[in-house]
Amino acid sequence: RPPAPGSTSARKGKPADIAISHPDRVVYPDDGYTKQDVADYYTRVMKWFLPGVIGRPTSVIRCPEGTAKACFFQKHLMQGLKHVGSAKLKEESGAQATYIYPLDADSVIELVQFGVLEFHPWGATVEQPDRADRMVFDLDPGEDVAWERMIAAARLVRKLLDQIGLASFLRTTGGKGLHVVVPLNPGCPWPQVKEFARAFASAMAQAHPMEFIATASKSRRTNLIYVDYLRNSRGATSVASYSLRARSGAPVAVPLRWDELGKLKSGHDFDIRSTPKRLARQRKDPWAGIDDTRQNLDDMMEKLG
Ligand code: ATP
Ligand code: MN
Ligand code: MN
Repeated sequence: RPPAPGSTSARKGKPADIAISHPDRVVYPDDGYTKQDVADYYTRVMKWFLPGVIGRPTSVIRCPEGTAKACFFQKHLMQGLKHVGSAKLKEESGAQATYIYPLDADSVIELVQFGVLEFHPWGATVEQPDRADRMVFDLDPGEDVAWERMIAAARLVRKLLDQIGLASFLRTTGGKGLHVVVPLNPGCPWPQVKEFARAFASAMAQAHPMEFIATASKSRRTNLIYVDYLRNSRGATSVASYSLRARSGAPVAVPLRWDELGKLKSGHDFDIRSTPKRLARQRKDPWAGIDDTRQNLDDMMEKLG
């Protein structure tokens, strides 16, 4: 059995001294940011980053030689990790595999030492891997979609969710698009989440056929926004709030208040420099209340109509 999140190596106030090897190695060659800059970034945002990853099976993107060289999307435990949790979980194939999950700040810094830049948690915890506590609508713009349409699209998604009684939360991805996140409490079995997410994406596409498409077929997508509902199955992941992205500019996925959407210019408005500054100024968590939101998908298929 996995230890309870935070119970084993959570030495509050006394972080292990995890040495960063090759601190001066440039990992973002377009920008000059080093491995030490990455470690410093995660240290500065740690208090806000941890709640989104602690106790969740977490895939990582490692770029041991920097983003100019090969990067790996890694789902399973790597040898040598001493400060992360590990949990044997069933794979889609039915076999068991050992997943990793952050326990505390040490876990995060140790993973950075292993070359990790991006963190991608499940929408479920190791305690209840079969129940989703987060549903994510990943809005992916086609090449010809102007940013203003993304703003309107995210508002439409929020509105339809709101109409059926589901509160939702907004985040930039650090890339091209936006995520609309729906907390589920108590959590829902993955098949229920998958079915609802697919039906919701279809409803959006049906109501606004000039804006949304709910199928992954690339050809028809250049002037449409794909409502990618496939983040919502057991084992699927979405980028963590405050994770860096392994892309030029060292952008960051940042949670926002809905009233900030109008002034957003892109999915990568925030980066390794501006995000800690934003957090230092921040009075209130933009996602305040997400953990107290009591809602789930029971009866929601009927409400969707
Ligand atoms: P963008 O706004 O640019 O779309 P995004 O994070 O939403 O950024 P997507 O390509 O839409 O990126 O979604 C990919 C998601 O799928 C990632 O967030 C990640 O968690 C997950 N994923 C699953 N497998 C992989 C993989 N092999 N490589 C990268 N991401 C993967
Ligand atoms: Mn996306
Ligand atoms: Mn996507």
